[in-house]
Amino acid sequence: MNEYVSNLMAVVKAKNPAEPEFYQTVQEVAESVSIVLDRKPQYRKAKILERIVEPERVLMFRVPWQDDQGNYQVNRGFRIEMNSAIGPYKGGLRFHPTVYLGILKFLAFEQVFKNALTTLPMGGGKGGADFDPKGKSDNEVMRFCQSFMNELFRHIGPNTDVPAGDIGVGGREIGYLFGQYKRLKDEFTGVLTGKGLTWGGSLIRTEATGYGAVYFADEMLKTRGESMKGKVCLVSGSGNVAQYTVEKLIDEGAKAVTLSDSNGFIYDSAGIDREKLAFLLDLKNVRRGRIKEYADKFKTAKYTPANPSLDHNPIWDMKADCAFPSATQNEINAKDAANLVKNGVYLVCEGANMPSTLDATRFFIEKKVLYGPAKAANAGGVATSGLEMSQNSERLSWTREEVDNKLHDIMIKIHKACYETAKEYGTPGNLVNGANIAGFIKVADAMLDQGLV
Ligand code: NAP
Repeated sequence: MNEYVSNLMAVVKAKNPAEPEFYQTVQEVAESVSIVLDRKPQYRKAKILERIVEPERVLMFRVPWQDDQGNYQVNRGFRIEMNSAIGPYKGGLRFHPTVYLGILKFLAFEQVFKNALTTLPMGGGKGGADFDPKGKSDNEVMRFCQSFMNELFRHIGPNTDVPAGDIGVGGREIGYLFGQYKRLKDEFTGVLTGKGLTWGGSLIRTEATGYGAVYFADEMLKTRGESMKGKVCLVSGSGNVAQYTVEKLIDEGAKAVTLSDSNGFIYDSAGIDREKLAFLLDLKNVRRGRIKEYADKFKTAKYTPANPSLDHNPIWDMKADCAFPSATQNEINAKDAANLVKNGVYLVCEGANMPSTLDATRFFIEKKVLYGPAKAANAGGVATSGLEMSQNSERLSWTREEVDNKLHDIMIKIHKACYETAKEYGTPGNLVNGANIAGFIKVADAMLDQGLV
């Protein structure tokens, strides 16, 4: 770590106590962009990086609600409005018991650079609550969402801040949140993305993050003259991103063999085909069951329960060609990274946000793994949210094919920008540097143009 980065990190740690995930993402970006700051002293003079690590606004609020037994419950809600240099704040809402300020600041920080890479005019934000939708009835989820929106509505708007889904926030939650916003503001606007198709949603938004990750993987493979066809792939998670990663892998003739949730993972040696995927979609999105039921239903699959006492995650210790981590942050540590490479994996494409620790990331780069960092590889979701915003403004709906083509084109452009920037800054093939630098320059230039705000 050079002196500039270590001084910056000391300040970040002092000002943001006990937020390790936030330090992790800031350090990764600062290490990548320090070469840019050397080449462009105007950024350093204008304290661009020092300003980018400071959120423009942080909102934290009480969310009281009543459960089905009539008991009063209280959760904590957040919205981090990180950076609006290139457009309205944009980023998802996460409902998960692990949510706290540090997780949402890391996600909002990543979002700033990711959104810049999409080529669309979107700033970065993130929000959510330490609420666990798992095991709650639809009515409880609705009451929670309505109470959450009773505070959030005054801070968001189609030209100010446009939230979307993330872990624990899917179509059901977006519906309840939108309904309450509309009731409070008495206006029907594109204030949230990921909406239902009959009330302003975009075709392909549900599929976009998973499809986009596979499109990004295609581009990485093309640099070695290869394609996804016939590749054996490990996929973690079993939610939105994992589901549509698997669907696109099937479309492209690859074989996905794993899925997981927080209780364990399945390994299906025969591969997940369309029939099994249909079962998964019903299991996770309708019945809201656990991944273990996949192995109960399909005998080619073996279920392994999670074991928190292990120093590694056994899902990453399987023979394969490619890995698509699509569950959560820091799900691949240094030992997992070594296991992946030992087992033949030479492409890692991140559907989840920051699924690899800093050590794991360094290991992949050192081993010349085709490594697609989250802020580039999973940008298809927010890019398609951007397309949803455009359709809402026009009051038009584009066809499935039109949106998919635009998404595909954006993923190709993001890969190209990362690949070329990595080369320009003397680290060819290092898409971590490429993504961080390309995203940073776009935001930094806008901040310079707009003066000291
Ligand atoms: P989701 O539909 O809620 O699914 C999340 C999946 O990850 C579930 O299978 C969940 O299992 C698992 N998971 C969550 N926390 C876990 C933990 N601590 N340990 C083990 N497994 C865990 O969410 P999603 O939208 O697919 O999001 C997955 C990842 O992609 C997140 O990192 C998210 O930030 C990122 N991402 C999402 C989008 C998007 O458009 N949705 C866009 C960009 C990036 P359980 O059911 O057991 O919790």
